[in-house]
Amino acid sequence: MAAFGIRDVVDTGIRVGCGVCAIAQPAITIERTDFGTFEPDVSHLGDDDLIRADAVCPFSDSTPDETQLAATLFSDEDPIQDRRIGRYSRLMSGYVTDAAAREQSSSGGLTNWMLESLLSKNT
Ligand code: SF4
Repeated sequence: MAAFGIRDVVDTGIRVGCGVCAIAQPAITIERTDFGTFEPDVSHLGDDDLIRADAVCPFSDSTPDETQLAATLFSDEDPIQDRRIGRYSRLMSGYVTDAAAREQSSSGGLTNWMLESLLSKNT
């Protein structure tokens, strides 16, 4: 089976629009889609350019996956592992207690709450 490269990432739409490929390969332009997401244009890249972009895209087979990254972060003494989510040190959950803010959020509203709190304290 051929390696899954950045062209496959773009074609299948699994990209996150991080823009790292455009930094590594300046020939790549990033366009904003009608859905507000960011999409790199890799259609004009040659083989060498694609290899350079593959080397940084987190969804390409050329970069380490979560299991490989976890192996560098956790020791064998950290045995917490789940076949669905891999290795981890702790799992926590939470949500904001402001019902209106929670209703506006996609997953509990904690990220917005934390960022607003930090910005309001100017820290
Ligand atoms: S590096 Fe990969 S995920 Fe990031 S913008 Fe480029 S194609 Fe998308």
